[in-house]
Amino acid sequence: MPAFVKQNIAGWGGWPRVECAVYRPEKRRALAEAIACGDWPHYIARGLGRSYGDAAVNPGGGVINTTRLDRMLSFDEQAGVLECEAGVSLEDILETFVPRGWFLPVTPGTKFVTVGGAIANDVHGKNHHVDGSFGEHVLRFTLLTPNGDILPCSPSENDDVFWATVGGVGLTGVILTAAIRLQPISSAYIKVDYRRCANIDAALAAIRETDDAYKYSVAWVDCLSRGAKLGRSVLMSGDHIAGRDLPVQYGHALTIPKKFQPNVPFNLPGFLLNPLFIGTFNSLFYAVHPSKQGQIVDYDSYFYPLDKIHNWNRGYGKDGFSQYQATFPHSGVEGLVKLLEKLSASGRASFLAVLKRMGPGSKGLLSHPIDGWTLTLDIPVKGGLMPFLHECDDLVAQYGGRLYTAKDATTRAEVFAAMYPRLGEFQAIKAKLDPAGKLSSRLARRCGIVEGPVGP
Ligand SMILES: Cc1cc2nc3c(=O)[nH]c(=O)nc-3n(C[C@H](O)[C@H](O)[C@H](O)COP(=O)(O)OP(=O)(O)OC[C@H]3O[C@@H](n4cnc5c(N)ncnc54)[C@H](O)[C@@H]3O)c2cc1C
Repeated sequence: MPAFVKQNIAGWGGWPRVECAVYRPEKRRALAEAIACGDWPHYIARGLGRSYGDAAVNPGGGVINTTRLDRMLSFDEQAGVLECEAGVSLEDILETFVPRGWFLPVTPGTKFVTVGGAIANDVHGKNHHVDGSFGEHVLRFTLLTPNGDILPCSPSENDDVFWATVGGVGLTGVILTAAIRLQPISSAYIKVDYRRCANIDAALAAIRETDDAYKYSVAWVDCLSRGAKLGRSVLMSGDHIAGRDLPVQYGHALTIPKKFQPNVPFNLPGFLLNPLFIGTFNSLFYAVHPSKQGQIVDYDSYFYPLDKIHNWNRGYGKDGFSQYQATFPHSGVEGLVKLLEKLSASGRASFLAVLKRMGPGSKGLLSHPIDGWTLTLDIPVKGGLMPFLHECDDLVAQYGGRLYTAKDATTRAEVFAAMYPRLGEFQAIKAKLDPAGKLSSRLARRCGIVEGPVGP
C-alpha cells in the first residue's frame, strides 16, 4: 500500500488548514499507485503549495505532493525547449538555465512554484500583456488520467484535454512531464523605469500610455490611501537588458550575486497588522520610489521581491490571510476603482496591492486572465471577513470580472459559474476523463466545479 502521512495542510495564506492524507511519491509509478489504490474517495496533486487558498487542499481525501518528481529530462539548446518532470520548480530552472542564457517565458511573482502548478493555474506574470500566460508556452505534456492512462497532450494532440488541463487546477489528471519553451537572454538583468502616479486614475493612464513599450510592467498600489490619493502607485516597467549594454561593474552578465535570505521563523503577533503600521509601510514605499529611468536590477529583485524573505506569509499571524485577485474586462474598469474604494474604506489594511493590465486570455477553459485589468491584495483573516469578501465578489461579478483560483479561498459556486462561462465545457471533459470523480479538491467542491461536500 503506498505510504502517506496525515497532515494539517493549507495554502500559502495559511487558511483554511485541514487534515489530508499526503503522499510524496518519488517515482511516477508510485504516484499512479497512490491514486489507483483508492484508499480515499478523491485525490488532488500539490506542487509547492504556493496557491493561497484551497486549490491543493483536500479534506477527507488524498493529496499527492509532486515535488520529488523533479528531474530535468532533456534540453534542446537550439530551440530552447526544456522537457522536465512536473515537480521541477521554477527556481531550479532559473538556476540551471539563466547562466546558459535562457529565461522562463512567463513567471509569477514567486519562483517557488512547480511546472505542474504553473500549468494547472495557467499562471501569468508581468509580461502578460505581451506574452500571455504560462500554458501558451507549453509545447506538450503527459497527463496521468484518473483511470491510470498516460495521455500525451499538446495544442494539436488531445487538444481538448490540453486546454482543460491548462488552468484546470489539477482536476483532469496529474501532469507528469512537460516541455516548455524558454526565452533567450544575454544578461540576468532588467532595465527598469519607475513612474510615481498620484492616484488610481493617473496609474491607469500611465499604464495605458506606456505599457506597449515594455515587455514587463506592474504597479504597486498603496491601497490605504484615500480621497484624491486613492490608489497612488509606483509603476515599474522593464525589459531584459542586453549583455553588451550591461556596465562592466556588474561582472559576468548571466550571473547575479547570491544574497542573504532572512526567514520569518514563526507566526508574528496579529497586532503588528494594524492600519497605522501598514499605512506607514505603504507611505514609505511610495516615498522611497521617485520616478526615475533606466535602473538596472537583477532578475531576482525585479521578479521575486517577496521571495527574499522565507516564510514571509507568517508575518500575517496564525490566523493567516486571504489574497484577493480580481480581473476586470476593460469595460469594467470602474468596478476595479470601486473595489479599491471599498477595500481602502474597510479598514482591512493590506500591504501594497498590485495593479496590472492584462492581455487577451489563453484557450484554457478555466484559465483566469482576460483582456483588462487585474488588482491583487492581501487581507488578514479577522472578524467578518467572509461576508465582506462575498460583497466584494458580487461587485466584481457585477462588472464582468472574475476571481483567480490560485488565490481564492472563499468564492461561492454560483458566483464562480457566472465568472467562468466555459465551466460547462470543462465539466463535460472532466466527466469523460474522470467519471468516478477521483480527482477533487476543496476548491473544486466549494466553487461547484465538481459535486460533493466542501469539508471543513
Ligand atoms: C508570493 C507569491 C506570488 C505569486 N504571484 C503570482 C503571479 O504573479 N501570477 C500568478 O499567476 N500566480 C501567482 N502566484 C500563485 C502561484 O503562481 C500559483 O498558485 C501556482 O499554481 C503555485 O504553484 P505550486 O507548484 O505551488 O502549486 P500548488 O499551489 O501546490 O497547486 C496549485 C494547483 O496546481 C495543481 N497541480 C500542482 N501540480 C500539479 C500536477 N503535477 N498536475 C496537475 N495539477 C497540479 C494543484 O492541484 C492545484 O490545483 C503567487 C504566489 C505567491 C505565494
